[in-house]
Amino acid sequence: RPRYTLLSGLEPLEIRPDSNFINVGERTNVTGSARFRSLIKENDYEAALTVARQQVEDGAQLIDVNMDEGLLDSEAAMRRFLNILSTEPDVARVPIMIDSSKFDVIEAGLQCAQGKCVVNSISLKEGETAFIEHARRVRRYGAAVIVMAFDEKGQADTTERKVEICARSYRILTEVIDFPPEDIIFDPNIFAIATGIEEHNAYAVHFIEACREFKKRFPLSHVSGGVSNVSFSFRGNEPVRQAIHAVFLYHAIRAGMDMGIVNAGQLMVYEDIPKDLLERVEDVVLNRRPDATERLLEVAESMRRGADPKKKDDEAWRSLPVTERLKHALVHGLDAYILEDVEEARVAAARPIHVIEGPLMDGMNVVGDLFGSGKMFLPQVVKSARVMKKAVAHLVPFIEAERGGTVRNNGTIVLATVKGDVHDIGKNIVGVVLRCNNYEVIDLGVMVPFQTILDTARREKADVIGLSGLITPSLDEMVTVAHEMKRQGFEVPLLIGGATTSVAHTAVKIDPEYGREVIHVVDASRAVGVVSQLLGEETRAHFAAKTKDEYRRIREAREAGQTEAKLLSIGDARLRRERLDFTQAAPSPSFLGTRAFDDYPLSELVDRIDWTPFFQTWELRGRYPAILEDPVVGEQARSLYDDARAMLDSFVREKRLRARGVVGFFPAASIGDDVELYDDAKRRRVRTNLHFLRQQAAKTDSRPNFCLADFVAPKDSGVNDHVGAFIVTAGIGLDAIVSEFEKQHDDYRAILAKALADRLAEAFAERLHERVRREFWGYAKDEALTNDDLIREKYQGIRPAPGYPACPDHTEKRTLFDLLDGERSAGVTLTESFAMWPAAAVSGWYFANPGSHYFGVGRIGKDQVEDYARRKGLTLAEAERWLAPSLGYRA
Ligand code: SAH
Repeated sequence: RPRYTLLSGLEPLEIRPDSNFINVGERTNVTGSARFRSLIKENDYEAALTVARQQVEDGAQLIDVNMDEGLLDSEAAMRRFLNILSTEPDVARVPIMIDSSKFDVIEAGLQCAQGKCVVNSISLKEGETAFIEHARRVRRYGAAVIVMAFDEKGQADTTERKVEICARSYRILTEVIDFPPEDIIFDPNIFAIATGIEEHNAYAVHFIEACREFKKRFPLSHVSGGVSNVSFSFRGNEPVRQAIHAVFLYHAIRAGMDMGIVNAGQLMVYEDIPKDLLERVEDVVLNRRPDATERLLEVAESMRRGADPKKKDDEAWRSLPVTERLKHALVHGLDAYILEDVEEARVAAARPIHVIEGPLMDGMNVVGDLFGSGKMFLPQVVKSARVMKKAVAHLVPFIEAERGGTVRNNGTIVLATVKGDVHDIGKNIVGVVLRCNNYEVIDLGVMVPFQTILDTARREKADVIGLSGLITPSLDEMVTVAHEMKRQGFEVPLLIGGATTSVAHTAVKIDPEYGREVIHVVDASRAVGVVSQLLGEETRAHFAAKTKDEYRRIREAREAGQTEAKLLSIGDARLRRERLDFTQAAPSPSFLGTRAFDDYPLSELVDRIDWTPFFQTWELRGRYPAILEDPVVGEQARSLYDDARAMLDSFVREKRLRARGVVGFFPAASIGDDVELYDDAKRRRVRTNLHFLRQQAAKTDSRPNFCLADFVAPKDSGVNDHVGAFIVTAGIGLDAIVSEFEKQHDDYRAILAKALADRLAEAFAERLHERVRREFWGYAKDEALTNDDLIREKYQGIRPAPGYPACPDHTEKRTLFDLLDGERSAGVTLTESFAMWPAAAVSGWYFANPGSHYFGVGRIGKDQVEDYARRKGLTLAEAERWLAPSLGYRA
């Protein structure tokens, strides 16, 4: 038979020289599609299958399946999805492209898929041996393969590199293992153009030129790529993006590209692009003139505006009857007309309370249902809650004047961030969501002593108590609250939430202290489900029993597993320390001692923001900037992002939020696991000692047992090394801003302001670290990294933060704060649990050695804890209390 590429699902797919462009469906991808991801995470494989079916119906000739997500058992998910998929002939008729960066996952997929698949992808990234091994196995399963233009040196961006790497891959595949050329598909990397960075302008041209070369050299093979990458810098502007895709494909296909991962339903036809736009897009794609990007930007804005179909009927809902208008305002979170509408409804109603019990409750029920079924997202819910709050605030005086009218609710919940902890964004969101579902929420704020929580719960006849905390010492405080609840005879359920809390800690440490219901709530969107089950007459007993049972099993599994953790003695672990090269130690910093920044310009920090965690705060999952284009949450993400940018602008303009910080450098030397800091360059007087912990896990390979002290030149090495330290905050003035929003019943903006202050503090840490490397310490004067590279930590040196995995002891922050005089120089103080106040603050050490890196200390043995207690001048019991989450033994 002729050497054509032949793939198959239940039906064959032949790719001939005269075949049209092959569309590969992209939606069955957990990283590319939030909807698909959440269906897989919720184990709703039936619904996930409809995503695949939709693509096939839209004309996809193959479907790309990708399960690469950190929290997912990708291998199991791949197996399960492909097994279910094969029972559905409508979908299984097309071949599967098994997509993963982990070869084990690919192999799992190959074992489950019938027909002839495509593996996406293998490359020379890890060298020839791994490449050959993977290719052999692909061949053994009879699949075709995508080869990425990626080698030991990195991803190819120029035509020459693309051709060089692919030619080398081709040679190895065909000569070493006899791989059929028609089963090879090249992916020479499509990168974003028109980004504002000059080198990027030629990326599309390089790709197109590479296609031409491939067709000449490898006529039997194919060329593919992910098309939407190319227009990434125009995210948010669909019309321009579609035009770029059409132009790009027009030229790339003519040059030889014959497959692509695209959104088939959205493709625009080249001929349909308006002439003036076409010229400008073509200038950009083909890199025909130096001002091409600016010229496209000039017309891009008007395209976006012209093409917004939503604008038209924006006001149509205003002609609905008032009860419908109220519902509409709630569901859409619109507060512009709420006061006039609610007043109109009040005048018409027999009693003011009926307005709440009627249309407002109806509206909130719709919101609750939409949120519960995943059709609405957290930022929308918080905006709806704001509308509700404003409406209720307007009605309350009338209800009180009438007397005797109390609003019935579903139950009362007392919420608090525990003593010593200051973080409350998550807790505030939970409060808002619960209020939306008609629970009365009494929020006691932050740093709340247990007796205050319990007294309030008793006085207010609370039905549930909810505790929140972010830092590890709070775990211990939660155990205390549980213990006290039992001692003081409480019977109401206890909810546990916040970043360091976990179902394991709740099951092992908190649950046994109380005896009654203790429930760990993973995130805000679960809170309503948990509370309604706990308070529902019919559901309560079953839910409680189920949770108790689950927690008991977690405890048993823990007991069984604990014996396995094998630790080295601290002496042996020290013998296995990491030995860095200190002959290349960084130069001396440009100054010794500290320097404070009293009012750091916010405008300089805005560009350094890492936006991905911001969306996480609002439970919108996905990486920025791709999240703005996400088919499911994209619209919400964009709207939230616009609100955030507007608020940031006002922060910069009005100067009500202030950023302060301090940085310091000190001559330093390591002695064992401690680091001595000296007063001055003469190193005669020790100013303070830093104490670090060392990994004790028995490793099966040759990796050392890490400790941060190993990154500083030892005292007896004769090398003059240094350590730096920093404290930054962007939270000065935040309280006033937040309380102003709260006064306006605007929880949405209050939470937004806190989330942004957190982002600015992290951005400040990033910016300051950058300046430390380039100016203050100056060991990387020529560094020039993009914000993305900074977020990916592509620089020399680290800034570990006390309380994080490499230095999990929060009490070391005391040393850091004394050293830099944090309160006076940066306006940041520590609570009794060593949380920083204001909460929007970051602190840490600077290590400059090129060999320094992050790691986790993990579990440690009693011998090390005893030694550490001695070094720090603590009793064993005190040390064990602070190190509780790290102990590898029962204290
Ligand atoms: N771009 C992120 C940066 C914060 S998280 C944001 O804006 O939220 C990364 C920081 O956490 C590091 O800079 C370091 O200070 C700290 N960190 C991460 N891993 C660590 C580890 N293993 N030990 C100590 N600190 C760590």
